[in-house]
Amino acid sequence: MKNHVIISFFIPHLGCNSQCVFCNQKTITGYRAGPDPRTVGRVIADRLRSLPPGAECEVAFYGGSFTALPWSRQQLYLEAVQPFINRGEIKSIRVSTRPDAIDGPGLDGLMAYGVRTVELGVQSLDGEVLKASGRNYDASLVENASLLIKEKGLSLGHQLMIGLPASNLAKELETAERVIRIGPDMVRIYPTLVLKGTPLAELYREGRYQPLSLKEAVDTALLLLTQFEKAGIKVIRMGLQPTPELEKSGELLAGPYHPGFGELVQAELFKWQAIHLIERFREREVTNRLKIYVDQRDLSKMIGHNRCNIHSLKARFHLEKLEVIGTKGTEKDWVGVGLWHREAPQMVLSRQSFLGPDND
Ligand code: SF4
Repeated sequence: MKNHVIISFFIPHLGCNSQCVFCNQKTITGYRAGPDPRTVGRVIADRLRSLPPGAECEVAFYGGSFTALPWSRQQLYLEAVQPFINRGEIKSIRVSTRPDAIDGPGLDGLMAYGVRTVELGVQSLDGEVLKASGRNYDASLVENASLLIKEKGLSLGHQLMIGLPASNLAKELETAERVIRIGPDMVRIYPTLVLKGTPLAELYREGRYQPLSLKEAVDTALLLLTQFEKAGIKVIRMGLQPTPELEKSGELLAGPYHPGFGELVQAELFKWQAIHLIERFREREVTNRLKIYVDQRDLSKMIGHNRCNIHSLKARFHLEKLEVIGTKGTEKDWVGVGLWHREAPQMVLSRQSFLGPDND
């Protein structure tokens, strides 16, 4: 499989027609202003030189509302990428934008320049949550914009936030169900953080907003992740990318930030997959010494942060010994279990079977 590389440019808040209560793109992205379009080509050329041969490259414009920029400005950015697309060095472009900045002619214009993916900042599909978050549109607009993007044959991404003002678990799950009905190709899940300089920081200071705890955020993201995986929708990111700006003292006021948030959620999913497997295995084998097997690439997720999954499984099943073995050359996302003296798993649970209807 080819190495897929995204060369990202951040255009913080460019094109935004309102201030969403939670958003401070300058802190999130670490960039204070969008790049000068004249520098885009040089940055791409530099990045391409540092990549391994054969990497499949895409250019992305993130962090603002790309399609809400004046068309002449969009063209300047897109034109800077064209020489690389024409030479086959860049395969395609992706942009992130607001759902209320989508129309047919605008999408046709993007496609003519090689844009193949549009990621929509959906955040929620609950009317009250959208209103309380300062989004200034309703859920039906998201559905229409999404369908238009799909009709054009573009790849569609949805960016969702959990723990927004006026939200709760039922609304997060309802949003996920509506997203599944729309059917994007990919989803990102971000826990809401309280960032300095945002309206949410004021609400927090006044005691009118309480963020999720880290555990609540992990548990909620896990429920959404399993819903999306069951529906065959890829979750390509959970939690913000750590940046020096975000981790700078005083920028993050409150909220469930963790630099490895996605790993925490994945570790929780592996733990539950192992619990289901061990329960079944122990119906036929009475033992308190077990080996768990996973693909080598999933080893850290199965073990968990500070070996938390090992401790948790040992306590839950009263195990004297539990070792996790990584295997090479296998598929990802399965879990196996076997007796302590055996060298191979005796029972295996794939992710697909684990998320099947029996395990709801
Ligand atoms: S969430 Fe998106 S639309 Fe809202 S202010 Fe931030 S970049 Fe702009």
